[in-house]
Amino acid sequence: MNEPGPDCPVCASTATRFLLRNSDFLFGTTDREFSLYRCARCAACFQHPLPPEDVLQLAYPDPYWWIVGESPSTPAARLEKIYRETMLRHHVRVARRHFPCAAPQVLDVGCGSGTFLAMLRRRTGIAGEGLESSAAAARRAKDAYGLTVHAGDIDTADFPPGRFDLITMFHVLEHLPRPQAALDRIRPWLSPGGVLLIQVPNVDSWQFRWFGRRWTGIDLPRHLVNYSPEALRRLLAQSGFTPDRFRWFSLRDNAPAIASSLCPAWDPMAMSLRGRKEFAFLKKVLYFGLVLALQPLALLEAAAGRGGTMFVAARPVATDRE
Ligand SMILES: [Zn+2]
Repeated sequence: MNEPGPDCPVCASTATRFLLRNSDFLFGTTDREFSLYRCARCAACFQHPLPPEDVLQLAYPDPYWWIVGESPSTPAARLEKIYRETMLRHHVRVARRHFPCAAPQVLDVGCGSGTFLAMLRRRTGIAGEGLESSAAAARRAKDAYGLTVHAGDIDTADFPPGRFDLITMFHVLEHLPRPQAALDRIRPWLSPGGVLLIQVPNVDSWQFRWFGRRWTGIDLPRHLVNYSPEALRRLLAQSGFTPDRFRWFSLRDNAPAIASSLCPAWDPMAMSLRGRKEFAFLKKVLYFGLVLALQPLALLEAAAGRGGTMFVAARPVATDRE
């Protein structure tokens, strides 16, 4: 009989086991190591113990809230802007596919410095709002794009019931220590027939199998809970949502996660956070070339249902009162 492990933050099972240990090898914000456990029931992979608050604060240095300047001055910055905007178009297409009506009220939870919302407005005419826990990022989103961004977090945000038709959460859920409490808060903000669109890394991916503890998708210590499809389905059901079908391809995320796992030193964000400027332009060109070259592999992985990230749209389960 196995000893019970720490409680799974998704399904509360104690059938959990130590999986791996690693440091913040990508961004190097700390020398500490962090432990990941896997749940035998839902396959969620979660940190235990959770990192101390001061370590987590240092894990998100300012350049993490990356922003596309409207008129970048250097060739490297111009290249990066073209790259980022091209990649984000796919996210806009995925969001548009899930518009529940012609002119939805949109909320992007964890909007960062607002590049998705700005791109959404440019390509669809829909001016969504953002919710962002980093006050600095929220300010940048307002200043750079004139977006309506609420600075605060899910626990304290106060929106009237039924305020939004589409709520997007791209790479947010894995950063939250109490994901179910977060979804319980968000659910009433959706209108009847509204849609919640989530994207998270997929621990059931080929990438995780290939790279293990060196897979950037687990992003220690920033990702507190990493999801399998089963874990995400459970979490959504427990929070009163009916998940729709999963999609496994993301132009912006899947091939780059393979590239960054292969060559962490070429990762543009890692270079920026570590202040490494030597050969930055060359490394960025090589990195973006590698990402392009890896897209067919990312497509193959997605076609097999084992993509590096997963999108799922979910609708609130109707209750008698609605
Ligand atoms: Zn579990």
